[in-house]
Amino acid sequence: MIYVDNAATTKLSKTALNAMMPYLTENYGNPSSLHTIGQAAAEALQKSREAVAECLGCSPKEIYFTSGGSEADNQAIISAAALGEKKGKKHIISTAFEHHAVLHTLKKLEKQGFDIELLPVGSLGSITAKQVEDAIRPDTCLVTTMFANNEIGSVLPVAEIGAVCRKNGILFHTDAVQAVGHIEVDVKKQNIDMLSLSAHKFHGPKGIGVLYAKLGIGLTNIIEGGAQERGKRAGTENIPAIVGMAAALKNATDHLNENAARMKALRDKLIEGLSKIPHSILNGDPVNRLPGNINFCFEGIEGESLLLLLDAKGICASSGSACTSGSLDPSHVLLAIGRPHEVAHGSLRLSLCEENTEEEIDTILEEVPKVVEYLRNMSPMWKNLISGKKEFIL
Ligand SMILES: *Cc1c(COP(=O)(O)O)cnc(C)c1O
Repeated sequence: MIYVDNAATTKLSKTALNAMMPYLTENYGNPSSLHTIGQAAAEALQKSREAVAECLGCSPKEIYFTSGGSEADNQAIISAAALGEKKGKKHIISTAFEHHAVLHTLKKLEKQGFDIELLPVGSLGSITAKQVEDAIRPDTCLVTTMFANNEIGSVLPVAEIGAVCRKNGILFHTDAVQAVGHIEVDVKKQNIDMLSLSAHKFHGPKGIGVLYAKLGIGLTNIIEGGAQERGKRAGTENIPAIVGMAAALKNATDHLNENAARMKALRDKLIEGLSKIPHSILNGDPVNRLPGNINFCFEGIEGESLLLLLDAKGICASSGSACTSGSLDPSHVLLAIGRPHEVAHGSLRLSLCEENTEEEIDTILEEVPKVVEYLRNMSPMWKNLISGKKEFIL
């Protein structure tokens, strides 16, 4: 099998698994317990917190462990909204192509009377700091933009957006789930007040993530109960997952540049090869782009059938977000960059990891054009295009 769906999730690394094993077996304590076994768990928790903080460039006191990226996004946005509301500020700036964990939380706030402004992301799928600056109003309480897009791989100018927010005294949250462990993230250098990350996107375990919140930001609890995470996130800590996440993050951070260089070379080979397919287009920013992301639209086909045929050939890919697949609506991200519905349906996302090989890339470059041609030959949509009954968009 060739696995090129690493934006959906990644394989647990040996490093992470080995770090976790003792905490799944003999070290099963609850860190809140005062006895020896409990205190061993408390120590692992503290060490993990320190390791994660070091990778992000912050203090361990600014790290809150959550159940993943979605929970961190929810808590960050709801907290900032609550702080804003206290001061009568109910305007929130975000973008049209956020993850649903952000968009659906914003929708909920809109129903509670917040004014949500989603910035357009243009044809390359990005925003500028100037767009943010122009959108800021006296009643703006939060700017939340992703660091890198999970479908089309665009990397946003987060440091500049953060600088604009800081200058105007507005909280800045970034969903960095696709960025952390893949490109450089430093919350201090990049002027980030709150950040979400998720372990399973960088070879850590599923169901664990982090909300970074700068000291002094009063968080709102999403989960009430015990006093874990300094009273801000109740529930017995998932020690094995937390330890695994810290090990995976350290490993990813230590090898960031070499992994990125490897993936970029494979990515660019794929982009070059797939661009040769007629009536196709690359989605996302060609320059400011995640090292492992490739996303194309092919006119005249359905992405779903493309995926099924590729799967039959042993290639595990995606049409975009794992969250939108299974629904008939085309991706909100592709619509946001201006792809018409009929083109947005024919999308293919390949997301690499550092373990993908040159041979795998060659196989993909051999198979995708064949499958696209096969599907086009039996597509009524395609017949209308080549007969001139309908005009090509791409
Ligand atoms: C995967 C992902 C999430 C959700 O993270 P989970 O840990 O799966 O909840 C949020 N935002 C982005 C950009 C993602 O890629």
